[in-house]
Amino acid sequence: MEVIRRISRISACSRALKERGCAIGFVPTMGCLHEGHLSLIRQVKKDCDAVVISIFVNPTQFAPEGEDYKRYPRDIDKDCLLAFNAGVDFIFAPLTGEVYPDGYQTSINVEKLSFPLCGISRPGHFRGVATIVAKLFNIISPDIAYFGAKDAQQALIVKRMVADLNMEVEIKVLPTVRTADGLAVSSRNSYLTKEERKSAVVLYKSLLKARHLINSGERNSKQILKIMEEIVRKEPRVKIDYISLVDGETLRERKEISGKILIALAVWIGNTRLIDNISIEV
Ligand code: AMP
Repeated sequence: MEVIRRISRISACSRALKERGCAIGFVPTMGCLHEGHLSLIRQVKKDCDAVVISIFVNPTQFAPEGEDYKRYPRDIDKDCLLAFNAGVDFIFAPLTGEVYPDGYQTSINVEKLSFPLCGISRPGHFRGVATIVAKLFNIISPDIAYFGAKDAQQALIVKRMVADLNMEVEIKVLPTVRTADGLAVSSRNSYLTKEERKSAVVLYKSLLKARHLINSGERNSKQILKIMEEIVRKEPRVKIDYISLVDGETLRERKEISGKILIALAVWIGNTRLIDNISIEV
């Protein structure tokens, strides 16, 4: 396994792999690797000849004020060990100045899909995400790139960008990895106190309830959202950012349940913002 800081080096390694006919699988991450990331890496091992991951806490997807860019957990030594054990071939871990040198001014905005859900409380977030993912695709030229369903809006935006800009990369989206009590694994879970961690189970609990209601025949979104909200409000530590029931492809709000549906929520627990979702097809 090689850890690479320079764009020129990772691009050269990628070219060499391609010349040898190797299929490159790529997992972009912000590091602090956990089971969610490792599930993506395991899939790359099955599908591809070479595994490349990136570890980069991308400043442009964090708001300049009030978001956790500075305190976002970073542990490159532990990440290297986990990546090595998982069979990663290359870690691309550039410094910020390598990615955004002086004079940098270009960005990519996937207009409509970036607007709802997390786009409302995090304006500019998905512009930052789309831009860094596009840059990483250009630098690494992967055959397949892997994303988690945990960040469903992000995955849709990346797919849209790839289609709109004719990028030659296949996007695979894999299921959310959860702990035994249902909480989606996330680097941000490390911020939670013991008490907050207990409260965090309410996200998945409300999603399961929504799924149960739909499977039992409920088709009225308002009713489902009301019941989800009641469940979340029972936890005084948890403040709702949004709970939404949207079309699974356009992310437009749905009043009636039919077709592909995404049920998504974001909450604040103390200073930690957590998101979760499930997809359902009726
Ligand atoms: P991050 O490091 O949080 O930017 O995540 C990197 C990739 O891992 C993204 O595609 C995420 O959607 C994915 N990911 C994060 N958490 C999970 C999880 N619990 N299950 C599956 N994928 C995840």
